Amino acid sequence: MQKEFDRPFVQSVLDDISHRMAGEADRGDVADYIPELASVSLNQFGIAVAPLDGLPISAGDANVAFSIQSISKVFSLVVALDRVGATLWRRVGREPSGDPFNSIVQLEFERGKPRNPFINAGALVVSDVILQEEEAKSEEHPVLELCRTLANDPTIEIDEAVFASEMSTGDRNRALAYFMLAEGNIESGVKATIESYFRQCSIEMSCVQLATATRFLAFAGNQELKEDWKLTPERARRINALMMTCGCYDASGEVAFRVGLPCKSGVGGGVVASVPGIGSIAAWCPGLDKKGNSVLAMRALEEVARELKWSVF
Ligand code: GLN
Repeated sequence: MQKEFDRPFVQSVLDDISHRMAGEADRGDVADYIPELASVSLNQFGIAVAPLDGLPISAGDANVAFSIQSISKVFSLVVALDRVGATLWRRVGREPSGDPFNSIVQLEFERGKPRNPFINAGALVVSDVILQEEEAKSEEHPVLELCRTLANDPTIEIDEAVFASEMSTGDRNRALAYFMLAEGNIESGVKATIESYFRQCSIEMSCVQLATATRFLAFAGNQELKEDWKLTPERARRINALMMTCGCYDASGEVAFRVGLPCKSGVGGGVVASVPGIGSIAAWCPGLDKKGNSVLAMRALEEVARELKWSVF
């Protein structure tokens, strides 16, 4: 199912939104619990739309690379499903948590099985599954390799400064991993799991690269992706469902209400939204709200969805 796509109109909507966002005073706060992210300027805003066919359309700082952080959890889920298929769901659930992304409370009640792959605990299990399936230690992180393939851009890299910053302050994530280790749901050890997880979170991409890389969610899965990564339309549909219910943590209901598209956010200030049958959107502004979602990226997605009448509802 492919819907009509009016490029000049989409461009004018993005230009307008980008212009409005540049003048916004209330931009939220940068994520200072990762010191390296605290130094990113709040005065940046970018947005890109990657249609199923044709080049991306963008406005603002859409080619500036930023830390993708939890958006990487979409890509790591693709890698883990490619490696182990539906057996993944024995170790991680598919329900929204209603708790913050780094919450530990539910894990104790639920004996170390995280609610979903998009909260930190769930993403740590996903990282562990990928590590277990890595036969020979490859040169590149498999999540980085996937990002490069999907964005068709070999220049995408891990930001080593962000990685070091997370390693020095990531004790909450270590606590989650140790708890799951005690419950028998971490197999590769806490150190290796944490390192692999922080590496994927430290991947740097721009809005243009992210929108391009997430186009498969709009069912663009080409033959090569189907063969190499088992990225079928069925799998994309299920990842969309998880993004809609769990992609923005304890704000997922509000985001479904306001934006009406499956979204995944990260504390670097990026948000991706998929528009099934049309393409993918990525927006970025580093300032976050209390729940760790970008204030202006979310507002921009809400406006794009409203003005272009894009919604899954
Ligand atoms: N690396 C961050 C963390 O683990 C990712 C969180 C996020 O983007 N929501 O805390």
